[in-house]
Amino acid sequence: MPRIARVVVEVARNREFDYLIPARLEGQLRVGMQVVVPFGHSEARGYVVGLSDEARHPKLKEIRDTVGQAVLVDERLLQLARWMSEYYLAPVERTIHTVLPAPVRRKGTGFKERLLVQPAEAAMDDLAVERLRAKAPKQAAVLDALRAGGPAFLNDLARAAKTTSAAVRALEKKGWVRIGRQAVHRDPLAGQELLRTQPLALMPQQKEALDLVCRAMDTLEPPVVLLYGVTGSGKTEVYLQAIARALEKGQGAIVLVPEISLTPQTIERFHGRFGDTIAVLHSSLSDGERHDEWHRVRQGRARVVIGARSALFAPVEKLGLIVVDEEHEPTYKQEETPAYHARDVAVMRGHLEGCAVLLGSATPSLESFQNARIGKYGLARMPARVDHRTMPAVRVVDLREEAERAGRPNVFSGDLVDAIHSRLSRAEQTMLFLNRRGFATSLVCPQCGYVARCNECSVAMTYHREPGAPEILLCHVCGERRIVPARCPNDKCRTPAFKFAGVGTQRIESIISRLFPDACVRRMDSDTTGRKDAHREILGEFRAGRIDILVGTQMIAKGLHFPNVTLVGVLYADLSLHMPDFRAAERTFQLLTQVAGRAGRGQATGEVIIQTYTPFHPAVQAARRLDYEGFFDQEIEFRKELGYPPFGHLVCLHLQGPGEAKVQFAGEALVRALKPKLPASVKLAGPTPAPLARARGQYRYQVLLRAPSTRSMTAPLKAVLETFKWPEDVRCIVDVDAVSLL
Ligand code: ADP
Ligand code: ZN
Repeated sequence: MPRIARVVVEVARNREFDYLIPARLEGQLRVGMQVVVPFGHSEARGYVVGLSDEARHPKLKEIRDTVGQAVLVDERLLQLARWMSEYYLAPVERTIHTVLPAPVRRKGTGFKERLLVQPAEAAMDDLAVERLRAKAPKQAAVLDALRAGGPAFLNDLARAAKTTSAAVRALEKKGWVRIGRQAVHRDPLAGQELLRTQPLALMPQQKEALDLVCRAMDTLEPPVVLLYGVTGSGKTEVYLQAIARALEKGQGAIVLVPEISLTPQTIERFHGRFGDTIAVLHSSLSDGERHDEWHRVRQGRARVVIGARSALFAPVEKLGLIVVDEEHEPTYKQEETPAYHARDVAVMRGHLEGCAVLLGSATPSLESFQNARIGKYGLARMPARVDHRTMPAVRVVDLREEAERAGRPNVFSGDLVDAIHSRLSRAEQTMLFLNRRGFATSLVCPQCGYVARCNECSVAMTYHREPGAPEILLCHVCGERRIVPARCPNDKCRTPAFKFAGVGTQRIESIISRLFPDACVRRMDSDTTGRKDAHREILGEFRAGRIDILVGTQMIAKGLHFPNVTLVGVLYADLSLHMPDFRAAERTFQLLTQVAGRAGRGQATGEVIIQTYTPFHPAVQAARRLDYEGFFDQEIEFRKELGYPPFGHLVCLHLQGPGEAKVQFAGEALVRALKPKLPASVKLAGPTPAPLARARGQYRYQVLLRAPSTRSMTAPLKAVLETFKWPEDVRCIVDVDAVSLL
């Protein structure tokens, strides 16, 4: 019988402590239980993470008590939490919190209970009831309702008998009825009408993909399948049938979708196929709903979980399949500690549970496609749209030529204006897309499109201005600085109008209204959709055909299906291309492909016009040809040369605090402490101001590490961070496999 329990204490940073198991808990204590232990001068909550016979310490304190009888985190989820702590360099109590949602962990949120009324024997005696009716007609009415409808909740029953709960209570006192507590489930899908759907007969490309996934589920060879299928190729139907297969085998499944795609329509497709065995976990659930959904999964009453990032940790037993839809989405990366990537952790969970993982995308991440290329993942291709609709025709317009022809830079090229006119005359719809992510701090020449880039790092340099100092260009990967030139550095251009490229959706909207005074134009971005239903309202009007031209940011790029849209215009493909991030080309290609996928989903073939200053950029050209693999082949060479992912790993330390000097100083001290401990294979840069140098009053700095293996960076980093003395108000977030370098 083990005598010692190893416990992660909630209030302690990243340590595990040994405690004695008191005699009365012997044989009851299990790994994953929540316990109360003495800690310092008071007590604290913690989780049992291991049991053993050997004490590593002579004087141990005893565990005070268990919290509930249930094992909250099963051993494999606990293993996953410990792996995340190790890999992402996050305190283990934080990763345990990640795998165990707060409403389940906390005392407050239990099951919701209602009072259930059941008839006692006396209530079945007709004569007795009639005698009661003479004296207390209301009470008799309650008994009538109860006898007719069977056991009922107190409130419902009182309402049905047109009386108050006092009448029911009176009956209880006299022994006519019994009132007891009953847990009820708070169901986020309650009240939704359910149209059950049947599996569709698969097209050959879907059949092949499904076969590969089924083989993965049966043999784990390969354990991970990448499903690369163009928009509208029928990926979701493959997910549905693979999940059905898991259910047949008595297994469960988890489906992850990006938060933005977790729409009622998406949920409906899964709910319609699988009914009540679906549980939904997303950020807008109430604590109570989240608590109940979690327990419904835990108890095996729901076998298929669909949700955003954190649904990955749902306590599904006998997990047979994890699906990660749109696996390339950057939102799968959590930005706070633990800064985990749900796709990567999904692969790890699959490994620990011995279950297959299915990654799906029309534009797979370079990491995943590379894994498929080298045979680590299986690859299923679905190159055609289900309905045999043709892919849209994509045209690239060179904004430099436009500027030359017009004698000045123009937001709308002649081609795009003509194309919009012809849509208006045919009563077809247009979507205009401003390819802008967050903020644009790269310098773009409005005349020739020149962009300042770092010679060492192939990323766009960012623009920094501080009061009293000269305006500078900064490479935040290597730290190189340049003074902002007065004229465009391109010898053929030399225009003095070299300045910020900052064209907002708002300005675009007003220009269009001027160009097309009779058209109905609406704008959709984070400014116009602040109100809760605004998003749905605008899309509803667009669907109904009341809007001719919809202008928007990436918000309109994803998953929308509007058959009457025959033209998609991308105004500045370059804006996301010059983000100070080595993934800028990949993101641009993904965005352009997604947007292009919005055109021509109905009977008429769609047209896409991409306006750009860099028409020959590989990302733009590949998007024009709708050629993912061509893009991959070029981009992967660049990554290889520079040792960027997938050929190496990246760790970004995000430092921030209210005083700039302090943040910078702390960064420098950290780098000094770190440098001698790093192996030669690790490249270190910084501290440099982050591209987003100040946010919410906080100054932000970065230290960037790059190396072929994560461990070669995280092991020394862990050692240094354990003893490093941070100034009081400087915060550091360790971001392993960083996705956003802003
Ligand atoms: P993706 O997820 O790849 O974008 P979807 O799974 O959403 O594609 O499929 C696009 C459309 O085609 C959906 O309306 C879907 O119902 C339909 N569809 C999918 N597979 C088939 C099939 N085998 N036969 C007929 N229609 C299908
Ligand atoms: Zn550089």
